[in-house]
Amino acid sequence: EAKRQGRNTWHWYEGDGNRSNGQYVLLRRELQEALQHNQFELHYQPVVDARTGAMRGAEALARWRHPHKGLIPPAAFIPLAEQTGQIIPLGQWVLQQACRDLRQLPDDLTVAVNISPLQFHRAGFVEELGALLERHGIPGRRLELEITEGVLMTGTEQAIATLHRLRRLGIVTAIDDFGTGFSSLSYLRTLPIQKIKLDRSFIADITDHPQSAAIVQGVITMARHLQLEVVAEGIETEAQRRDLTERGCDRLQGFYFSKPLPLAEFRAGMAHWGD
Ligand code: C2E
Ligand code: MG
Ligand code: MG
Ligand code: MG
Repeated sequence: EAKRQGRNTWHWYEGDGNRSNGQYVLLRRELQEALQHNQFELHYQPVVDARTGAMRGAEALARWRHPHKGLIPPAAFIPLAEQTGQIIPLGQWVLQQACRDLRQLPDDLTVAVNISPLQFHRAGFVEELGALLERHGIPGRRLELEITEGVLMTGTEQAIATLHRLRRLGIVTAIDDFGTGFSSLSYLRTLPIQKIKLDRSFIADITDHPQSAAIVQGVITMARHLQLEVVAEGIETEAQRRDLTERGCDRLQGFYFSKPLPLAEFRAGMAHWGD
C-alpha cells in the first residue's frame, strides 16, 4: 500500500512510475546532500494588477540546481520531500531565502511562498516565522503564504488558530490551486484567509469550455462578496488576460507576463516593467 501511494505521490521525472526501494533511498540521500550543499534556488514570477498591469508582487518557486542533471522542477522533488519530512528543512530554507531576497526588492512588493501541509501544521511554525521576519527586518505585510485546500481539511480548529496568528503578524494567506480540492466552500466563510488563487486548469479551459468560464465567474463573484482578492494563475494569452480582467479578477500571473526568473533576472526585468 505504501508503495502504491508512493508511486502516485512522488514522481521523479514525468512518466516514471517504476521506482524501486533502492532508488527511493538514493533520491532521499541526494535530496539530503542538496540541502547540505545549498543546491536550491528560488525563482520569481510576477503577479500583476489586472487593471493597470503594474507589478504588485511575485511568487517564489523552488528549483533544484542539480550538479549533473541541471535545473529540476519542484514537481520532481517536493512530493518526495513531503514524504520523507525533508520538506521541513527545505521549507525553512525557502522562507529564509525569500526574506533575504525581499531585502533586495522594493518595499511595496510582496513575495508569496508556498507552504506544505506538514510545515503549516508543525508546532512552532508561526513563532519561527515571526522570529525570521524580525531577524531580517521584514514587515509581515510583505510576505504572503500559499496553502492548498488540503491543509484545511485536517486539524481545522488548529488551522484556524494558525491563520489568525499569521494575520496578527500582518501576513496574508492565499488558498492556492483553488477549485481543485474537494473541500466544502463553507470554510471560506469561517477561515481568516484573504486571497484565492484560481487554478490554472480553469484558466486554460476558459475560452473553449463554457463550464470552466461559469466556474471562474462564480468564484470571482463569490470572492467579491466575501471580500477576498482573486488571483488567476496560468495566464498565457492576451485573450485570457482580457477575459479574466473583464470578469473582475484582481491579479494575474502567468507566462503571458513572465516565466519565473532567478532573482537577478527578475530584478533586471523589473526596471523595464511596463515599457
Ligand atoms: P503553484 O504554487 O500552483 O505554482 C504555479 C506553477 O505554475 C509554477 O510551477 C509556475 O511555474 C507555473 N506557471 C506559472 N504560469 C504558468 C503559465 O502561464 N502556464 C503554465 N503552464 N504554467 C505556469 P512550478 O514552479 O513548476 O511549481 C509547481 C508547484 O510546486 C507549485 O505550484 C507548488 O505547488 C510547488 N512548489 C514550488 N515551490 C515550492 C516551495 O518552495 N515549497 C512548496 N511546498 N511547494 C512548492
Ligand atoms: Mg503557489
Ligand atoms: Mg497554484
Ligand atoms: Mg500547484
